[in-house]
Amino acid sequence: MAETHEAFYSCRDNCQCSRCIHQETKQRMVDTFSIPDDVNALWRGISYDLKSVTINWTDGHIGIYPFTWLSAHRFQNDDRKSVSPPFYFRPFEAISCNSTYQTFPTVSYDNVMAKEEGILEWLEQILKWGFCCVRGVPVAPKSTEALLERIAFIRNTHYGGFWDFTSDLTFKDTAYTTDSLAAHTDNTYFTDPARLQLFHLLSHTNGEGGATLLVDGFRAAQQLMEEDEQSCRMLAKFSQSFHSSGNEHVCIQPSKAAKVFECDIRTNELQLIRWNNYDRGAKTDWTIESEKLWYSAARHWNEIITRPEMEIWLQLQPGTAISIYALSSSAKSTEVLI
Ligand SMILES: [Zn+2]
Repeated sequence: MAETHEAFYSCRDNCQCSRCIHQETKQRMVDTFSIPDDVNALWRGISYDLKSVTINWTDGHIGIYPFTWLSAHRFQNDDRKSVSPPFYFRPFEAISCNSTYQTFPTVSYDNVMAKEEGILEWLEQILKWGFCCVRGVPVAPKSTEALLERIAFIRNTHYGGFWDFTSDLTFKDTAYTTDSLAAHTDNTYFTDPARLQLFHLLSHTNGEGGATLLVDGFRAAQQLMEEDEQSCRMLAKFSQSFHSSGNEHVCIQPSKAAKVFECDIRTNELQLIRWNNYDRGAKTDWTIESEKLWYSAARHWNEIITRPEMEIWLQLQPGTAISIYALSSSAKSTEVLI
Protein backbone atom coordinates (compact mmCIF):
# COMPACT_ATOMS: atom_id res chain seq x y z
CA MET A 1 0.00 0.00 0.00
CA ALA A 2 1.23 3.48 -0.85
CA GLU A 3 2.51 5.65 1.96
CA THR A 4 -0.03 8.13 3.22
CA HIS A 5 -0.51 11.12 5.47
CA GLU A 6 -2.96 10.40 8.20
CA ALA A 7 -5.82 12.85 7.61
CA PHE A 8 -9.16 13.65 9.14
CA TYR A 9 -12.06 11.86 7.50
CA SER A 10 -14.03 15.08 7.88
CA CYS A 11 -11.47 16.78 5.65
CA ARG A 12 -12.28 14.40 2.78
CA ASP A 13 -16.01 14.68 3.59
CA ASN A 14 -15.84 18.48 3.42
CA CYS A 15 -13.93 18.72 0.16
CA GLN A 16 -14.86 22.02 -1.49
CA CYS A 17 -14.46 20.97 -5.12
CA SER A 18 -17.38 21.37 -7.50
CA ARG A 19 -18.12 17.64 -7.46
CA CYS A 20 -18.41 17.54 -3.67
CA ILE A 21 -20.07 20.88 -2.91
CA HIS A 22 -22.68 22.60 -5.02
CA GLN A 23 -20.98 25.87 -5.84
CA GLU A 24 -24.13 27.96 -5.53
CA THR A 25 -26.16 26.40 -2.74
CA LYS A 26 -23.05 25.17 -0.87
CA GLN A 27 -24.91 21.93 -0.21
CA ARG A 28 -22.94 18.71 0.12
CA MET A 29 -23.16 16.53 -3.01
CA VAL A 30 -20.58 13.90 -2.15
CA ASP A 31 -22.08 10.72 -0.69
CA THR A 32 -20.31 10.80 2.66
CA PHE A 33 -20.88 7.12 3.31
CA SER A 34 -19.39 6.00 0.03
CA ILE A 35 -16.01 7.40 1.11
CA PRO A 36 -13.90 4.51 2.51
CA ASP A 37 -13.61 4.83 6.28
CA ASP A 38 -9.81 4.41 6.07
CA VAL A 39 -9.38 7.21 3.53
CA ASN A 40 -6.11 9.12 3.82
CA ALA A 41 -4.11 11.70 1.94
CA LEU A 42 -1.53 10.23 -0.47
CA TRP A 43 2.10 10.68 0.49
CA ARG A 44 3.39 13.76 -1.32
CA GLY A 45 -0.14 14.21 -2.59
CA ILE A 46 -0.60 17.63 -1.01
CA SER A 47 0.16 20.79 -2.98
CA TYR A 48 -0.99 24.37 -3.03
CA ASP A 49 -1.12 27.47 -5.16
CA LEU A 50 -2.01 31.06 -4.31
CA LYS A 51 -5.66 30.31 -3.69
CA SER A 52 -6.07 26.77 -2.44
CA VAL A 53 -4.65 23.50 -1.20
CA THR A 54 -5.06 20.36 -3.30
CA ILE A 55 -5.09 16.94 -1.66
CA ASN A 56 -4.81 13.66 -3.55
CA TRP A 57 -6.83 11.17 -1.54
CA THR A 58 -6.38 7.40 -1.40
CA ASP A 59 -9.88 6.91 -2.83
CA GLY A 60 -8.70 8.57 -6.05
CA HIS A 61 -10.42 11.88 -5.40
CA ILE A 62 -8.60 15.18 -5.84
CA GLY A 63 -9.79 17.51 -3.11
CA ILE A 64 -9.69 21.30 -3.31
CA TYR A 65 -9.62 23.53 -0.20
CA PRO A 66 -9.54 27.31 -0.73
CA PHE A 67 -7.47 29.16 1.89
CA THR A 68 -10.47 31.33 2.75
CA TRP A 69 -12.46 28.19 3.61
CA LEU A 70 -9.57 26.65 5.57
CA SER A 71 -9.09 29.81 7.54
CA ALA A 72 -12.78 29.89 8.51
CA HIS A 73 -12.71 26.22 9.54
CA ARG A 74 -9.51 25.94 11.54
CA PHE A 75 -9.53 23.21 14.13
CA GLN A 76 -9.92 24.52 17.64
CA ASN A 77 -7.35 23.60 20.21
CA ASP A 78 -8.97 20.76 22.14
CA ASP A 79 -6.81 21.47 25.18
CA ARG A 80 -8.96 24.51 25.87
CA LYS A 81 -11.89 22.30 26.83
CA SER A 82 -10.16 20.51 29.67
CA VAL A 83 -8.89 23.50 31.63
CA SER A 84 -10.81 25.94 33.78
CA PRO A 85 -12.57 28.42 33.55
CA PRO A 86 -16.01 26.95 32.79
CA PHE A 87 -16.28 28.92 29.53
CA TYR A 88 -14.76 31.79 27.58
CA PHE A 89 -15.98 35.11 26.26
CA ARG A 90 -15.77 36.35 22.72
CA PRO A 91 -14.51 39.95 22.44
CA PHE A 92 -17.19 42.48 23.35
CA GLU A 93 -17.50 45.98 24.83
CA ALA A 94 -19.72 47.07 27.68
CA ILE A 95 -21.45 50.43 28.08
CA SER A 96 -20.97 52.06 31.46
CA CYS A 97 -24.09 52.84 33.48
CA ASN A 98 -23.04 56.52 33.43
CA SER A 99 -23.21 56.70 29.65
CA THR A 100 -25.54 59.27 28.23
CA TYR A 101 -27.90 58.79 25.37
CA GLN A 102 -25.58 60.73 23.06
CA THR A 103 -22.76 58.26 23.58
CA PHE A 104 -24.78 55.10 22.90
CA PRO A 105 -23.80 53.18 19.78
CA THR A 106 -25.88 54.67 17.00
CA VAL A 107 -26.25 54.39 13.25
CA SER A 108 -28.40 56.40 10.89
CA TYR A 109 -31.51 55.04 9.21
CA ASP A 110 -30.57 56.62 5.88
CA ASN A 111 -27.18 54.95 5.92
CA VAL A 112 -28.62 51.52 6.73
CA MET A 113 -31.28 51.82 4.04
CA ALA A 114 -28.95 53.18 1.35
CA LYS A 115 -25.79 51.09 1.61
CA GLU A 116 -24.67 47.55 2.31
CA GLU A 117 -21.86 49.07 4.39
CA GLY A 118 -24.54 50.71 6.51
CA ILE A 119 -25.98 47.29 7.41
CA LEU A 120 -22.53 45.95 8.22
CA GLU A 121 -21.81 48.89 10.51
CA TRP A 122 -25.15 48.36 12.28
CA LEU A 123 -24.54 44.62 12.80
CA GLU A 124 -21.00 45.20 14.02
CA GLN A 125 -22.22 47.69 16.61
CA ILE A 126 -24.88 45.24 17.86
CA LEU A 127 -22.34 42.42 18.10
CA LYS A 128 -19.82 44.61 19.90
CA TRP A 129 -22.09 46.44 22.36
CA GLY A 130 -25.13 44.18 22.53
CA PHE A 131 -27.40 46.95 21.26
CA CYS A 132 -27.48 49.83 18.84
CA CYS A 133 -29.82 52.77 18.25
CA VAL A 134 -31.00 53.69 14.77
CA ARG A 135 -31.70 57.41 14.44
CA GLY A 136 -33.93 59.08 11.89
CA VAL A 137 -36.44 56.26 11.41
CA PRO A 138 -39.74 57.52 9.93
CA VAL A 139 -42.39 57.14 12.64
CA ALA A 140 -44.49 54.47 10.94
CA PRO A 141 -44.79 50.68 11.26
CA LYS A 142 -43.97 50.12 7.54
CA SER A 143 -40.65 51.97 7.73
CA THR A 144 -39.74 50.15 10.92
CA GLU A 145 -40.50 46.83 9.26
CA ALA A 146 -38.43 47.78 6.20
CA LEU A 147 -35.54 48.66 8.49
CA LEU A 148 -35.67 45.20 10.09
CA GLU A 149 -35.79 43.50 6.74
CA ARG A 150 -32.49 45.10 5.79
CA ILE A 151 -30.94 42.52 8.13
CA ALA A 152 -33.05 39.46 7.35
CA PHE A 153 -36.55 38.05 7.18
CA ILE A 154 -38.58 38.48 10.35
CA ARG A 155 -39.01 35.45 12.57
CA ASN A 156 -42.58 34.44 13.19
CA THR A 157 -43.86 33.74 16.69
CA HIS A 158 -47.25 33.00 18.22
CA TYR A 159 -47.66 36.78 18.54
CA GLY A 160 -46.96 37.22 14.82
CA GLY A 161 -43.72 38.37 13.20
CA PHE A 162 -43.90 42.14 13.23
CA TRP A 163 -46.51 43.86 15.31
CA ASP A 164 -47.33 47.06 17.06
CA PHE A 165 -48.88 46.88 20.46
CA THR A 166 -50.18 49.04 23.22
CA SER A 167 -50.22 48.32 26.87
CA ASP A 168 -52.87 45.65 27.30
CA LEU A 169 -53.09 41.94 27.89
CA THR A 170 -54.09 40.90 24.36
CA PHE A 171 -50.92 38.86 24.26
CA LYS A 172 -51.44 37.42 27.74
CA ASP A 173 -47.90 38.17 28.63
CA THR A 174 -46.85 40.57 31.36
CA ALA A 175 -44.29 42.08 28.95
CA TYR A 176 -47.19 43.93 27.30
CA THR A 177 -48.59 45.52 30.41
CA THR A 178 -47.35 48.47 32.38
CA ASP A 179 -46.02 46.25 35.16
CA SER A 180 -42.29 46.62 35.22
CA LEU A 181 -40.37 43.43 34.79
CA ALA A 182 -37.06 42.25 36.14
CA ALA A 183 -34.25 41.83 33.62
CA HIS A 184 -34.83 38.89 31.34
CA THR A 185 -34.35 37.59 27.84
CA ASP A 186 -37.28 36.82 25.55
CA ASN A 187 -38.34 33.62 23.83
CA THR A 188 -36.75 31.36 26.43
CA TYR A 189 -39.52 28.90 25.56
CA PHE A 190 -38.32 28.52 21.96
CA THR A 191 -35.83 25.83 21.02
CA ASP A 192 -33.93 28.55 19.19
CA PRO A 193 -34.80 31.93 20.72
CA ALA A 194 -34.82 34.93 18.39
CA ARG A 195 -31.59 36.75 19.08
CA LEU A 196 -32.20 40.15 17.57
CA GLN A 197 -35.16 42.30 18.44
CA LEU A 198 -36.05 45.82 17.48
CA PHE A 199 -38.22 48.30 19.33
CA HIS A 200 -39.58 51.54 18.04
CA LEU A 201 -41.90 53.71 20.11
CA LEU A 202 -44.43 55.06 17.63
CA SER A 203 -46.46 57.28 19.89
CA HIS A 204 -45.87 58.70 23.28
CA THR A 205 -48.87 60.02 25.16
CA ASN A 206 -48.55 62.44 28.06
CA GLY A 207 -44.85 61.78 28.41
CA GLU A 208 -45.51 58.30 29.75
CA GLY A 209 -43.89 55.11 28.59
CA GLY A 210 -40.80 54.05 26.75
CA ALA A 211 -38.38 54.06 29.67
CA THR A 212 -36.22 51.06 28.97
CA LEU A 213 -33.61 49.41 31.09
CA LEU A 214 -30.89 47.30 29.52
CA VAL A 215 -28.60 44.97 31.37
CA ASP A 216 -25.58 43.63 29.52
CA GLY A 217 -25.78 39.87 30.03
CA PHE A 218 -22.22 39.22 28.85
CA ARG A 219 -20.84 41.83 31.22
CA ALA A 220 -22.89 40.34 34.06
CA ALA A 221 -21.64 36.84 33.23
CA GLN A 222 -18.08 38.13 33.24
CA GLN A 223 -18.71 39.65 36.66
CA LEU A 224 -20.11 36.35 37.93
CA MET A 225 -17.05 34.57 36.55
CA GLU A 226 -14.79 36.95 38.49
CA GLU A 227 -16.72 36.51 41.72
CA ASP A 228 -17.56 32.83 41.58
CA GLU A 229 -16.53 30.46 38.81
CA GLN A 230 -18.53 27.66 40.38
CA SER A 231 -21.78 29.58 39.85
CA CYS A 232 -20.92 30.04 36.18
CA ARG A 233 -20.24 26.33 35.94
CA MET A 234 -23.63 25.45 37.44
CA LEU A 235 -25.58 27.80 35.16
CA ALA A 236 -23.75 26.33 32.18
CA LYS A 237 -24.36 22.78 33.39
CA PHE A 238 -27.97 22.26 34.49
CA SER A 239 -30.77 22.54 31.97
CA GLN A 240 -34.11 24.07 32.84
CA SER A 241 -37.51 23.90 31.22
CA PHE A 242 -39.28 27.05 30.02
CA HIS A 243 -42.80 27.61 28.78
CA SER A 244 -45.27 30.08 27.33
CA SER A 245 -48.77 29.22 28.49
CA GLY A 246 -50.71 32.48 28.82
CA ASN A 247 -52.72 32.35 25.61
CA GLU A 248 -55.61 29.98 25.11
CA HIS A 249 -54.62 26.87 23.16
CA VAL A 250 -50.97 27.87 23.34
CA CYS A 251 -48.31 26.00 25.26
CA ILE A 252 -44.80 26.36 23.91
CA GLN A 253 -41.73 24.69 25.33
CA PRO A 254 -38.28 24.13 23.85
CA SER A 255 -37.80 20.69 22.31
CA LYS A 256 -35.24 20.06 25.02
CA ALA A 257 -34.43 21.68 28.34
CA ALA A 258 -31.91 24.51 28.06
CA LYS A 259 -29.11 25.98 30.14
CA VAL A 260 -28.97 29.58 31.32
CA PHE A 261 -25.49 29.91 29.79
CA GLU A 262 -25.29 28.16 26.47
CA CYS A 263 -21.77 27.76 25.13
CA ASP A 264 -20.47 26.96 21.68
CA ILE A 265 -19.51 23.29 21.79
CA ARG A 266 -16.47 23.88 19.58
CA THR A 267 -14.96 26.95 21.20
CA ASN A 268 -16.61 26.80 24.64
CA GLU A 269 -17.41 30.49 24.30
CA LEU A 270 -20.57 31.86 25.87
CA GLN A 271 -23.04 32.09 23.03
CA LEU A 272 -26.51 32.66 24.43
CA ILE A 273 -28.01 33.65 27.76
CA ARG A 274 -31.45 32.29 28.46
CA TRP A 275 -32.83 33.96 31.55
CA ASN A 276 -36.47 34.55 32.28
CA ASN A 277 -37.45 33.62 35.78
CA TYR A 278 -41.12 34.23 34.99
CA ASP A 279 -41.19 31.58 32.30
CA ARG A 280 -38.99 28.99 34.00
CA GLY A 281 -40.77 25.69 34.56
CA ALA A 282 -40.38 23.24 37.43
CA LYS A 283 -37.36 20.96 37.12
CA THR A 284 -37.75 17.42 38.39
CA ASP A 285 -34.75 15.46 37.13
CA TRP A 286 -32.08 16.43 39.63
CA THR A 287 -30.82 15.61 43.09
CA ILE A 288 -31.27 17.82 46.10
CA GLU A 289 -27.52 18.55 46.05
CA SER A 290 -27.60 19.67 42.41
CA GLU A 291 -30.66 21.75 43.10
CA LYS A 292 -28.92 23.60 45.92
CA LEU A 293 -25.93 24.37 43.72
CA TRP A 294 -28.09 25.68 40.90
CA TYR A 295 -30.31 27.88 43.09
CA SER A 296 -27.29 29.32 44.84
CA ALA A 297 -25.75 30.16 41.44
CA ALA A 298 -29.03 31.61 40.15
CA ARG A 299 -29.38 33.76 43.27
CA HIS A 300 -25.89 35.17 42.78
CA TRP A 301 -26.58 35.83 39.08
CA ASN A 302 -29.87 37.54 39.91
CA GLU A 303 -28.12 39.71 42.47
CA ILE A 304 -25.53 40.81 39.89
CA ILE A 305 -28.03 41.71 37.16
CA THR A 306 -30.02 43.87 39.59
CA ARG A 307 -27.03 45.95 40.73
CA PRO A 308 -27.43 49.66 39.92
CA GLU A 309 -24.07 49.73 38.11
CA MET A 310 -25.42 47.13 35.68
CA GLU A 311 -28.35 49.32 34.68
CA ILE A 312 -28.33 51.19 31.39
CA TRP A 313 -31.43 53.36 31.12
CA LEU A 314 -32.69 54.75 27.91
CA GLN A 315 -35.83 56.53 26.90
CA LEU A 316 -37.41 55.18 23.73
CA GLN A 317 -38.43 58.01 21.42
CA PRO A 318 -40.37 58.14 18.18
CA GLY A 319 -37.80 58.23 15.37
CA THR A 320 -35.15 56.23 17.19
CA ALA A 321 -35.40 52.47 17.02
CA ILE A 322 -33.29 50.27 19.23
CA SER A 323 -32.03 46.91 18.09
CA ILE A 324 -31.01 44.50 20.80
CA TYR A 325 -29.35 41.14 21.03
CA ALA A 326 -32.18 39.31 22.90
CA LEU A 327 -34.53 41.38 25.04
CA SER A 328 -38.04 42.04 26.22
CA SER A 329 -40.18 45.08 26.74
CA SER A 330 -43.13 46.58 28.49
CA ALA A 331 -44.85 49.81 27.64
CA LYS A 332 -43.98 51.78 30.73
CA SER A 333 -40.85 50.50 32.30
CA THR A 334 -38.90 47.81 30.63
CA GLU A 335 -36.04 45.83 31.95
CA VAL A 336 -34.26 43.83 29.37
CA LEU A 337 -31.20 41.67 29.22
CA ILE A 338 -28.88 41.89 26.25
ZN1 LIG B 1 -14.20 17.04 -3.96
